[in-house]
Amino acid sequence: MKTAIVIGAGIAGLAAAARLQSKGYQVSVFEHRPYAGGKLTQIMVGDYRFDAGPSIFTMPQYVEEVFSECGKNPKDYFEYHMVDEICRYFWEDGTQLSSYCDIDKFSKEVEDKLKTDSAPVRKMVQKNKFKFESVGNIFLRRSLHKVSSFTNFDTLRAVLRIPRLQLFQSMNQVNSRLKHPKLVQLFNRFATYNGSNPFQASSILNLVGHLELGLGIAMPKGGMHDISQSVYKLALDLGVKFHFGNKVDEIILENKVAKGIKVAGESKMADLVVCNMDVHYAYEKLMPNAAKPKKVLEQPRSSSGIVFYWGIRKSFPELLLHNAFMTEDSAKEFDCIFNKKTITEDPTIYINITSKHVAGDAPEGGENWFTMVNVPHIEGQNWDEIISKARKSVIAKINRILKTDIEQFIEAEDVFEPRIIEARTLSHKGSLYGISSNTRTGAFFRHSNFSRNIKNLYFCGGSVHPGGGIPVCLSSAKIVADMIPNAV
Ligand SMILES: Cc1cc2nc3c(=O)[nH]c(=O)nc-3n(C[C@H](O)[C@H](O)[C@H](O)COP(=O)(O)OP(=O)(O)OC[C@H]3O[C@@H](n4cnc5c(N)ncnc54)[C@H](O)[C@@H]3O)c2cc1C
Repeated sequence: MKTAIVIGAGIAGLAAAARLQSKGYQVSVFEHRPYAGGKLTQIMVGDYRFDAGPSIFTMPQYVEEVFSECGKNPKDYFEYHMVDEICRYFWEDGTQLSSYCDIDKFSKEVEDKLKTDSAPVRKMVQKNKFKFESVGNIFLRRSLHKVSSFTNFDTLRAVLRIPRLQLFQSMNQVNSRLKHPKLVQLFNRFATYNGSNPFQASSILNLVGHLELGLGIAMPKGGMHDISQSVYKLALDLGVKFHFGNKVDEIILENKVAKGIKVAGESKMADLVVCNMDVHYAYEKLMPNAAKPKKVLEQPRSSSGIVFYWGIRKSFPELLLHNAFMTEDSAKEFDCIFNKKTITEDPTIYINITSKHVAGDAPEGGENWFTMVNVPHIEGQNWDEIISKARKSVIAKINRILKTDIEQFIEAEDVFEPRIIEARTLSHKGSLYGISSNTRTGAFFRHSNFSRNIKNLYFCGGSVHPGGGIPVCLSSAKIVADMIPNAV
């Protein structure tokens, strides 16, 4: 039987393992941590359960597809529902605005709450859909590093549409056509969904807005953790073997062919190796003597985050599953994160409360607040100072907007921050999404899903093509599995 080794049990590693097992390989996954899921895991803080990393879930069909393409019924593994009122936005002047996937509801909300014409919003939503439909299939479903990806109808159509894709304008330039500053801010925020800066990233990234406002947000029945656990269960059912608490030290290379791995001093051989760990560390630590794709590895990394997991012994009916407390000065916030590599005193705060949907995530009458601010990736900062400053700013802003004294209700607390993110998930510089999309050519400089120089070595996950975020990582696993022939 042909064999495959997967390094890392992040969501992409799990999906790649299941897909390859169903293609006839005997797959073994080696994972440094004692659990499956990587960033997509959960933690308990006191009596409160938290999804530790991702909280926004788009394109659930990419999860379902893993089961169906492995010959299983998705409903036997994974349940979710779509969220009607997607996110509630709060501003310091007392404005509250909810976003909806239903464009009529969203337009009415914009007119009622912002007292402005909603026509530009409708137009922007349409434009973002157009961008997604023009390039989504090329970018998300194929390797950008194979000639065959460019010789098909989808690519020809995208090329013909280039003049209308606004590739050479930034997200902020295009979103400024919304005119109302609160709407510009709301649409610019989608850049942060892959750790980028809307003042630098090409407006093609506005297609991320379509994933949320056009296709909708989903919520797994038991929280985000269900996503990784359901794919883990699928992999187990198919016969994948897992080795937790096993940090891979080396990818064994012979004459530019990947032959296996070294873990805890032992060699494990296989017909092919799939690397789900951060590609930067894979070259640096596991293949120090291999030729490095320098330009690719030196691309600017995405932002990181500080998350305060707060068990709150009070309930706030004005908050939803997803909430964003907006900064008064977006330009300054992005300048701080991406240029000054620090944080502003008035950060945008994202609060995710799964206990609004998942009974048991918080004790009766309480709520589990995943409270996050975007911060730069690690670049020699004094993180203790930044975290303490962030905590103060976050509490002050929440108090101003909700007219409360939140600290007295925090009865359980933990913090997730760039140094912990780097140590726990071995992500280079603690970045959340691999490399950012801040350069116009960034999409083409993500590492490919295979090695050009080393045979039988493949890559999936947030640090390689197509990039970070759950659906995108799942795509990388599909691209890898599709390029590997059946074992039988
Ligand atoms: C705070 C936070 C918020 C986020 N919010 C969202 C969101 O709302 N929506 C969204 O879609 N995405 C979000 N993301 C991004 C998303 O979590 C990631 O893009 C995705 O989970 C990455 O999956 P991955 O397959 O690349 O692997 P990872 O989750 O990065 O896992 C890689 C695994 O490899 C293991 N590993 C590394 N090196 C080795 C080695 N040498 N040997 C063995 N094992 C090794 C690690 O232990 C880890 O388990 C967020 C991330 C974080 C941290």
